[in-house]
Amino acid sequence: MDELEIIDKRFKGYVLFNAPLEQLGDGFRWLEGPVWFGDRQCLLFSDIPNDRIMRWSEAGGFEVFRQPAGFPNGQTRDRQGRLITCSHYNRCVTRTELDGTVTVLADRFDGKRLNSPNDVVVKSDGSIWFTDPPYGIHTDYEGGKQKSEVPPRVYRFDPGDGTLSIVADDFDGPNGLCFSPDESRLYISDTGTQPSDEPVEHIRVFDVDGDGKTIRGGDHFYKSIPSNADGFRCDEDGNVWTSAGDGVHCVDPSGALLGKIKVPSQVGNITFGGRNRSRLFICASHTLYAIYTNQRGAQRP
Ligand code: MG
Repeated sequence: MDELEIIDKRFKGYVLFNAPLEQLGDGFRWLEGPVWFGDRQCLLFSDIPNDRIMRWSEAGGFEVFRQPAGFPNGQTRDRQGRLITCSHYNRCVTRTELDGTVTVLADRFDGKRLNSPNDVVVKSDGSIWFTDPPYGIHTDYEGGKQKSEVPPRVYRFDPGDGTLSIVADDFDGPNGLCFSPDESRLYISDTGTQPSDEPVEHIRVFDVDGDGKTIRGGDHFYKSIPSNADGFRCDEDGNVWTSAGDGVHCVDPSGALLGKIKVPSQVGNITFGGRNRSRLFICASHTLYAIYTNQRGAQRP
């Protein structure tokens, strides 16, 4: 397949020579927040400028799941299977309860409004970790032009006691985030700029402390060229599959690039799904793609 670029022979074992990059749908505006519901065999994803969450399934095709939706961005599920969504416009993280009602989990820190939560993951202890750059309040296109009240940060929300704590604050544009399969590491991308105005654009890797609540380190892990490490997921071997300027890059735990899936439009985020978690769903600008791989997404512990 022309869209596959093998850089390390290990990548050959992760892809399929006869599985094409399939375009599932087009005509959206800017896609993000893909989350797979294995129990319902469907994908939910955000179409941010259209202020909606879409649903796709092989059997049912595309439907609007929610609109308006608070200009949604990153999404995931919690340990009970409930949908967790970042909202740009409402500047919060929400949980959709099993009866469909929407609960705001976090919208302020120390009395000040969050910026525009961007991406979110849930740890095995149920805690909800999310990034909060100001991208959704810079423009009306992706949310609404509003004033920032807090610096860009990464937070941990404890749904047990409702506390919100800062886990990292040395980012300009904290964006995608993902735990390694054993949760000993947390990867967080910075898509911001340095004080010199140079783009940062890389993924950093942190060690998760023994308490499971704090992180340390934060070394440079991977910089895709061309860059756009907006969103990423781990596979079950701990490789990181990340959005990049030219498609999806597969990077091993040491930070070595193994191979690429070339995608014709800018990739914002990805997730593994399908019957065996081996189908990679790719949110790429106005298009949703999918490709079957020979690797499985990390199972939540
Ligand atoms: Mg993002």
